[in-house]
Amino acid sequence: MKGSPRTRILSYVVIIYMLLAFSWWSILLYVKNNDAFQAKATYLELIKIGSKQIASEEEFYLSQEYQDLKAKYKRQERMIFGEAMVFILSLMAGIWLINRGYQNEVQLARQKRNFLLSVTHELKSPLASIRLILETFQKRELTNEQKQQLGENGIKENDRLSNLVNNLLTATRMETLYKPEREVIDIQDVLDSEVKRIRNLYPKRNILFTKQNDQFQVNLDPSGFISILTNLVENALKYSEINEPVEILLTKSNNEAILKVSDRGIGIPPDEKQNIFSQFYRIGNEDTRKTKGTGLGLYIVKQIVQAHGGKISITENIPKGSIFEVRLPIN
Ligand code: ADP
Repeated sequence: MKGSPRTRILSYVVIIYMLLAFSWWSILLYVKNNDAFQAKATYLELIKIGSKQIASEEEFYLSQEYQDLKAKYKRQERMIFGEAMVFILSLMAGIWLINRGYQNEVQLARQKRNFLLSVTHELKSPLASIRLILETFQKRELTNEQKQQLGENGIKENDRLSNLVNNLLTATRMETLYKPEREVIDIQDVLDSEVKRIRNLYPKRNILFTKQNDQFQVNLDPSGFISILTNLVENALKYSEINEPVEILLTKSNNEAILKVSDRGIGIPPDEKQNIFSQFYRIGNEDTRKTKGTGLGLYIVKQIVQAHGGKISITENIPKGSIFEVRLPIN
């Protein structure tokens, strides 16, 4: 993106020049049109006086020829004005479109850079941890307890890696190839076992799960649903302090299953609420950010929700944090 501010300034200068030049030409045309009208009217008046068709100036102004000439002039005047407006408006629209395209390009370049930085980091760090664990196994005498602990850590790192690879693969397939493979499932059972799995992965975190008393069946893609839940809960955990709870709530209303994931974390600025569902989008800058991620999670969530004909929305939590609400049709 180097050099682009200079290009921008140059394009603004060209645009301003175009606007000024066009305004000048429009005014000149307007003045010349007026001159031509005055000249023609005087010429007509002189002819009429010369041939004694009229006796006074008033009579000339009332004559049909003068009225026709005036109407023609007015028409031309309106045309000049109209053309100028159309030109200026199209120029403005063009500038706006170019500017929007430019902003999108800048945004995309930033997202790509962020993505590469974070993926590189996300790939390198579990690989380094797994290597360290294996080296420790190789070089040291370990107690059974230590072996157990190291083994668990290795599995977690491996999970992280496979989650990342899965997310990358899912995101690339998502746009064109994803079709929900629907099954009639008991959504509360699925949630129960998934919440248990997540709690095991994050033993220090307080993950609350509330569900409606009645069991209910839904017709949806179980792995898609699990992906929605995992991404939302992991985000809620990631973007809040370790001592803050994360709440999962499952309810049913009319023909919809409603899943809410609330956190008391850093929250999402209102103007970022739409952006965060874009591929690779992460709020802020990778150089200063402390949390890990690729900006794919919410993109995947949104695609799965939409493929099910559902909706996802974000509201602010009180006193702080965010609430993600997913509504999925039951049938
Ligand atoms: P990732 O978490 O891998 O960066 P996501 O697509 O899951 O990617 O989320 C996109 C961005 O949305 C995150 O980078 C973060 O800035 C913001 N975000 C997502 N969930 C939350 C949340 N619960 N609280 C605050 N910010 C969030």
